[in-house]
Amino acid sequence: MKKTLGKCDLFIKGGDFLDGTGRPSMKADVAINGDRVVAIGIVNVENPEQTIDATNHMIAPGFIDVHTHDDRLLLSNPEVTPKLSQGVTTVVVGNCGASLSPWLSNFPPPPPLDLIIPSDNESYRFPTFSSYSEALEKHPAAINSFSLIGHSTLRCCAMKDIDRPASEPEIKIMKEHLRNSLQEGAGGFSTGLFYQPNKPAPPSEVEALASELKPFRGVYATHMRNEADQLLESLDETFETAKRAGCPVVISHHKCQGSGNWGRSIDSLARIEKANEQQEVSFDVYPYVAGSTVLLEEMISSSFRIIITWSKAFPEAGGKDLSEIAKEWNCSVEEAMSRLQPGGGIYFSMKNEDVERILSHPMAMIGSDGIPHDVHPHPRLWGTFPRVLGHFVRERKLFNLAKAVNKMTGIPATNFKLHDRGILKEGSFADVVIFNPKTIRDCATFEKPIQKAFGIHTVIVNGAIAWVNGEGTGSRTGCLLKNPVCN
Ligand code: ZN
Repeated sequence: MKKTLGKCDLFIKGGDFLDGTGRPSMKADVAINGDRVVAIGIVNVENPEQTIDATNHMIAPGFIDVHTHDDRLLLSNPEVTPKLSQGVTTVVVGNCGASLSPWLSNFPPPPPLDLIIPSDNESYRFPTFSSYSEALEKHPAAINSFSLIGHSTLRCCAMKDIDRPASEPEIKIMKEHLRNSLQEGAGGFSTGLFYQPNKPAPPSEVEALASELKPFRGVYATHMRNEADQLLESLDETFETAKRAGCPVVISHHKCQGSGNWGRSIDSLARIEKANEQQEVSFDVYPYVAGSTVLLEEMISSSFRIIITWSKAFPEAGGKDLSEIAKEWNCSVEEAMSRLQPGGGIYFSMKNEDVERILSHPMAMIGSDGIPHDVHPHPRLWGTFPRVLGHFVRERKLFNLAKAVNKMTGIPATNFKLHDRGILKEGSFADVVIFNPKTIRDCATFEKPIQKAFGIHTVIVNGAIAWVNGEGTGSRTGCLLKNPVCN
């Protein structure tokens, strides 16, 4: 049935349309008024303010990057170029136990918190979540954000020495900080139990904090204690903790690390499916066989190649292989790594078959895990979403385009409880990406990681055009999205 509108602010016509639910595409026009979609289908608009010709292009909900460390990037680069250029319209920040707020500590942020909290610069210090959210509201970004509060950040607030389990009074302080943040709109809580500042926390400490989420319908996301030899045990710990706390849980960047664990994604995915029958479980994944984090000696044995992403002591090492540096310095790789500290690396530790199996799982969400302030970042920062659509959908044919978009939009919006986003229908927020399904591809590589993707036509955030023809428009219509209770 043809709909007729007198006028609208923005009219996208001539394209194929995907609604984000996984349903196949159809020919449809999209009319937008203010920040909302007002009509989808065969639409006739007599007097549109602005028209976009989407012939040969796909119109889809803006992508939701469920796993980011963009807390500071939203303020330091409000265009959030690495993400906006990929068609991302919402980022979930504060992952892996590390959030920019609330930060009350006087000591320098320990790794990996130093990836987002600058150690040599007092700006970007936010003692409360509301001080962070006010800064974002005063200086809005081009895209939306949804914040998790990190356990490592909370431990630094409440504890003088973080290399032990927290005491009862310290847990009480952390719970208060978390509850206040949730009251101020934070969307959930994250852990990075693999990392030193979070590792000494036993499951009971995590549970005590995660139990604050329930009244706010908040989400718990976890970089688990172990993604290598103890992968399955870590999954069990995760399910048990979330079940006791009564909250939904997201397993961050699901992977099988180290050659001894290749192939175990068959078992891990089966275990996730089984747990999901009893409780709300979900997971995200990035489309690469290498991960990236701070320099950690324990990562050497499980990696077959390591590229340095930054080094405070030797900035020129960014982009070089650790093995080459060790050869140049005539020392062991362990010794070279210790001289490069503090710093970061890209660790090749996964098997492509596992990555493809995890990506293909119907529950999988896409999350970049990009680290935005690295000198020579992992290419996932600039390439994740177009890489899934180009390499894994068009070339490898792992799953179809509608399912791929569903992994980037509808599934994340459901799991993170993002109201009226992720699925395009009449009345929903107008977060839209228009891309060419025949040409979309990632350009960022391990050698040249800072490269805009190809094939993104236009990106619309809350009804405003934020990206067109490979450039940002200067539009800053991103909102801070809040938990469903504060919304
Ligand atoms: Zn992580």
